[in-house]
Amino acid sequence: MDQTWIDMYNAAKAVLGGRTISEYVTAGEVSAAVRSKSGRIYVGVCIDTCSTLGICAERNAIFNMITNGENEIDRVLCIPPNEGKGAPCGACRELMVQLMPGKYKDIEIMIDYSKGKAMKLGELTPEWWID
Ligand SMILES: [Zn+2]
Repeated sequence: MDQTWIDMYNAAKAVLGGRTISEYVTAGEVSAAVRSKSGRIYVGVCIDTCSTLGICAERNAIFNMITNGENEIDRVLCIPPNEGKGAPCGACRELMVQLMPGKYKDIEIMIDYSKGKAMKLGELTPEWWID
């Protein structure tokens, strides 16, 4: 595994940690790091609410990247509950596809950090409605 994945893992780990925000909102049980094409790493945590206002950690990290003026993703890493393995949900894949039409298939996604297994979004999402 290369140093970039390790740096992304450490960045995501630094913000990981479940917390209760209010009686309706919890956050931080999942965290994610997104590396932009410029090489900067942006992080986000999941935010869960009682009425679907929340967001996945991956999309939160992507929105953080956009907030900071960037719009091209190079890599995505997520730390799921219990540090298990996991692929981005359909909504997160959809956002990446719409953000980078024609290029999203090259985004690298860490599927299982403990085994160093990464896949391209094009392998995970081969027949999407946008090429
Ligand atoms: Zn998601």
